[in-house]
Amino acid sequence: MVSLSRTGKLVSGIMLCLLLTTSLQADESESPPNIVLIISDDQAWTDYGFMGHADIETPNLDKLAAQSLTFTRGYVPTSLCRPSLASIITGLYPIQHHISGNDPAIGGEDRETRIAALNAKIKSLDTLPKLLATKGYVSFQSGKWWEGSFADGGFTHGMTHGDRKRGGRHGDEGLKIGRQGLQPVYDFIEDAGEKPFFVWYAPFLPHTPHNPPKRLLEKYTAEGRPESLAKYYAMCEWFDETCGQLVDHIDSKGLGENTIVIYVTDNGWIQRTQESNVPKDWNKPFAPRSKQSPSEGGVRTPIMVRWPETIEPVMDQETLVSSIDLAPTILQAAGIEVPKAMTGLDLMSVARGEALNREALCGEIFAHDIADIDDPSKSLLYRWCVVGDEKLIKCFDGQTGRNGGIHKHMQGDKSTQLFDLKVDPHETKNLFEERREKAISLESSLTKFFMRLPDPWVDDESKKFTQQDRLRGSITPERAWWDLKHYQLSVQVDPEARTIKGSNIIRFEVLEEGSTMQIDLQEPLEITKVEHESGELSFTRNGNVYLIEIGKPIAKGTSDQIQVFYEGTPVVSKNPPWSGGFSWQKDNKGKHFIATSCQGIGASIWWPCKDHGYDEPDAGMQINVTVPEDLTAVSNGRLTKTDHDVDGKTKTFQWTVTQPINNYGVNVNIGNYVNFKDKYDGEFGTLDLDYWVLAHQRETAEKHFKEAPRTIEAFEHWFGKYPFYEDSYKLVVVPYLGMEHQSSVTYGNGFKNGYRGRDLSATGVGLKFDFIIVHESGHEWFGNNVSMKDTADMWIHESFTNYSENLFVEYHFTKQEAEDYVIGCRRNVRNESPIIGVYGVNNSGSGDMYYKGGNMIHMMRHIVNDDEKWRSILRGLNKAFWHQTVTTQQVEDYLSEQAGFDFSKVFDQYLRGTDIPVLKYSINGKTLKYRLEKAVDGLKIPARAAINGQTISLELSGDAASFEFADEIEMFELDRNFYVETQLEE
Ligand SMILES: [Zn+2]
Repeated sequence: MVSLSRTGKLVSGIMLCLLLTTSLQADESESPPNIVLIISDDQAWTDYGFMGHADIETPNLDKLAAQSLTFTRGYVPTSLCRPSLASIITGLYPIQHHISGNDPAIGGEDRETRIAALNAKIKSLDTLPKLLATKGYVSFQSGKWWEGSFADGGFTHGMTHGDRKRGGRHGDEGLKIGRQGLQPVYDFIEDAGEKPFFVWYAPFLPHTPHNPPKRLLEKYTAEGRPESLAKYYAMCEWFDETCGQLVDHIDSKGLGENTIVIYVTDNGWIQRTQESNVPKDWNKPFAPRSKQSPSEGGVRTPIMVRWPETIEPVMDQETLVSSIDLAPTILQAAGIEVPKAMTGLDLMSVARGEALNREALCGEIFAHDIADIDDPSKSLLYRWCVVGDEKLIKCFDGQTGRNGGIHKHMQGDKSTQLFDLKVDPHETKNLFEERREKAISLESSLTKFFMRLPDPWVDDESKKFTQQDRLRGSITPERAWWDLKHYQLSVQVDPEARTIKGSNIIRFEVLEEGSTMQIDLQEPLEITKVEHESGELSFTRNGNVYLIEIGKPIAKGTSDQIQVFYEGTPVVSKNPPWSGGFSWQKDNKGKHFIATSCQGIGASIWWPCKDHGYDEPDAGMQINVTVPEDLTAVSNGRLTKTDHDVDGKTKTFQWTVTQPINNYGVNVNIGNYVNFKDKYDGEFGTLDLDYWVLAHQRETAEKHFKEAPRTIEAFEHWFGKYPFYEDSYKLVVVPYLGMEHQSSVTYGNGFKNGYRGRDLSATGVGLKFDFIIVHESGHEWFGNNVSMKDTADMWIHESFTNYSENLFVEYHFTKQEAEDYVIGCRRNVRNESPIIGVYGVNNSGSGDMYYKGGNMIHMMRHIVNDDEKWRSILRGLNKAFWHQTVTTQQVEDYLSEQAGFDFSKVFDQYLRGTDIPVLKYSINGKTLKYRLEKAVDGLKIPARAAINGQTISLELSGDAASFEFADEIEMFELDRNFYVETQLEE
């Protein structure tokens, strides 16, 4: 065991008084600081010259310590490398990031799956390189790295590939750094050019194999010193040399001043020698009370922060700091907001002379083998905390995996221990009984600490998403290179077996040379074969995503096609249309009545496609549906052919869509349908109206569906031309409520007015029209004509379509009733989460996109305050984005531009936040004083109000304002069309 002593001058963190003129945070104008993170591997906190070791020489780290804000009382929360490194890169405790040990427990057929799932965790977590990238940083990984490839952790550059087939586990190629020089790091810094950079230098040093250079081994070889110890000492100095080379390189390049160099060790190490007093069955090369233990030899490390010219070098021997603090310290120095799951403290505040506000410094240690990768607590062995000079260690009963032997010795009788580190730094004397009251208070601090830690997997919306969500919801490289031209979907439906089988011919044009295509098809359906030209293509499956290898890259500009064959038992929709899949129903005559629906979950729940909103088949789609001969299949577009296979007792219905169509708009309905037709003579010629109902419904439907041309008339007035004259307009009866399937609106509202006979606005107006016919037809303009690129922007579909309901009322009834309706619908608004969802993960926002979104648009009309202009904006929107997929930004910009009013803050308020602004006002004689609360910065609403029955104009904003009226104010009322709450202040 090595000697321990406190050296250097004693400085209290609070007493540091630094004459610093610069702020400790990069301001916007200057380049943020570079970050170099040096991480030692398996080295005790005592084993440095500057920490007072009698024999080990570390001149380079001694120099760094002298130039740094150096904390001699630093800790890592856990004394095992993988979880410790994961904590450094995420700023989270192991119980938060779930990477609690080095490997999943051995055995079991699913171990490879568990390894992959563990490695995938990092992709869902915020990491330093990911967050730094938001400020333009490039980042380089070298040395130890357990979490798959460097890119999986968010590094832009790096050495570790992580491929297990090529020896990937904890660093592979990256482990060459240090032992074989530092050239890759130098090259990266060179290539970074003007960009701020982040270097992860975690060489496998002084970690085993202890194979120091001969010159260093000779230096430390001494009489009476075991060879294993001499080797370890030499390793420490070898590591020190590489640190010196790295820091010198930075300084020699003139980068020192704008580079923060941070030093920490991943965990401790006490070299075991022949002389070590270890239990008989101790089978580790390290001695007890070091690695994997909660003792100081396991969890303590010096921590250094060097930022020349900005922070003063200080040897701080009092302040307790943790590697958990590094991520928030780095982020704040870079001017990046710290995610709320990171609870570490900004160490720069010590440099500012402030005390760190920390009740107890805590850590936790789990078994090397992870029993359950989603529940770290099953492997929890120790928790510990330090308060002042006292340290408490508490044992837990987690599963120990292969390391049961060592933990049996370290845990002993599992009693809780208290040590006084000042007088007993080796933790030899348990003071629990002696200082019982203090011990219990520390124990309670420890329990509270871990109870209060935020769970990033639950608390943060964006963390709920999986790799599958990202593959589904983003424009992946395997999607981006090809542009969809046409689908030819052929599917045979077997109602008795409830199975489907078919193929999709996908025609596309090559935008950028590529050879791997992503095609989506959700489980349990399976792609059985993919054909291209004359041959079959190979493919691999990752959940709901198939990667199809075309072999040699296809050149840019080429038009090409593949045919994807698939089959299986599709998912049954539990609650159509809100949950996707097939509905296998029977009609009142006992005949099959079948329908698909897939909004949200996606079309790939029943057919293989490029399942993302941004790309629609420009030339439309052909849908061939084969069903038993006594049934009829109805799909989108026009019925262009029917084939009867007399022997096979099947009929095939060919439906043709000539216009672009979004995936979720494609549907197949199968039943004992009868058909009747009508025509609508609209502003733009004759539109074919095509109705498909069950035989017994025909008479009712012929009357009730007169609502359809009335709806189209109203919407052509407000929004312009019906977008799909070529493909006709259809209403198709289905065994669920209804859905906006393009040119094939499905209907299940029971031939009644209202929403299933109810009025959503509670004003009576909602019973004046059939909600499903009006709402779902409104989607032909907003949803099918103007379509969202990303599901997060679903408000473009639903807010405008909700708004269209009141325009229908206004067109056929009165303006007054239209207002009653839209305003009455505010009762359904919940304001719990924003309307815009999370981008790139197929996530739609709050259901408030209906009523709140509709009311926002209604208010915008009143801000424009010119009905004809407003109508031309709505019509212009459908023209400007005719048959296009768009983003929220495009729609926002268009509306602001056309209106001549900057709506950006209105959108921020109502789409991106959850507060409805509140107009606080007071009346004093002739004076009205008013201001908005709960408003986003910069929100201005030019509103109207009535004073004593007379209309006045007011600009509402967060600024206090007043209005002088001619007479005493007796009555004040804000125009109800403005979606603002009001509150009289006494
Ligand atoms: Zn809708």
